[in-house]
Amino acid sequence: MQDRIAIQIFDDYYYVGDEHVGFHILRTEEGLILFDSMTTPDADEVFLQPGLAELSLEKEPIRAIFLTHGHFDHYLGAEHVRLRTGCDVMLSAEDCVFMVSSLDNRDKGQEMPHITRIVKDKEVITYGRHDIYVMAAPGHTPGCLNYAFPVHDKGEEHRAMMLGGSAVFGPGRYPGKEGYPFSGAYAAEQALIFAATLIKTWDYVKEHNCDVYLTAHPFACDLLEHAAMNKEGELNHVIIGTEKVGEYLKKHYDMCIASADVFCPVGK
Ligand SMILES: [Zn+2]
Ligand SMILES: [Zn+2]
Repeated sequence: MQDRIAIQIFDDYYYVGDEHVGFHILRTEEGLILFDSMTTPDADEVFLQPGLAELSLEKEPIRAIFLTHGHFDHYLGAEHVRLRTGCDVMLSAEDCVFMVSSLDNRDKGQEMPHITRIVKDKEVITYGRHDIYVMAAPGHTPGCLNYAFPVHDKGEEHRAMMLGGSAVFGPGRYPGKEGYPFSGAYAAEQALIFAATLIKTWDYVKEHNCDVYLTAHPFACDLLEHAAMNKEGELNHVIIGTEKVGEYLKKHYDMCIASADVFCPVGK
């Protein structure tokens, strides 16, 4: 097990987890909202509860866990949190199906969380002054979700875009299993769907001036590196600006297109 990280990044946004995956925590006027829940069923006991105590958040009620997608490294910790706190657990309908049926998760089935609420594209769920915008973001999984929401830095409001999926899977590029269980045609199609998702994400980022970029896996947005650069009284390095968010999305888009090309079976 990696060391536990528990850090405050904005007035109302925290991260508890390790360098690979974690709980993203938004503190609202109506309690804590979590995004994702880590890789093991005991993540609540091992990471979340001690992490919240370290951040003096242990008395705050936990209202909901918004899952980004139906891969086990994001949902396996959710059920213990739900049973302890009675919080909602949200996921898209597509990834509820994916979670229970996918070859990706077939060995982990016994620990699937009870999903209490299905969330849909363009839905807005509000907790106090925090509105959480749900965006269907297929490609990494069929029902992957992005979330956009406000964060506050020294009282000033900024808007964050959180990308749910990162990796593009296909033949020869599939972690933890012997081989990619689907066809090259499917992989190429998913990579192109992911590219379209990134175009849609950029449209939203531009329209809403999202200047904070988050990803379910912290390494994909350099979250911990940016947070480590922060010093008292200086600018918050996690606020990267809309243009820089666009650079991250473009890099990802290019990777999707290149992957589709590699996986594409046409003419081969
Ligand atoms: Zn995933
Ligand atoms: Zn993941």
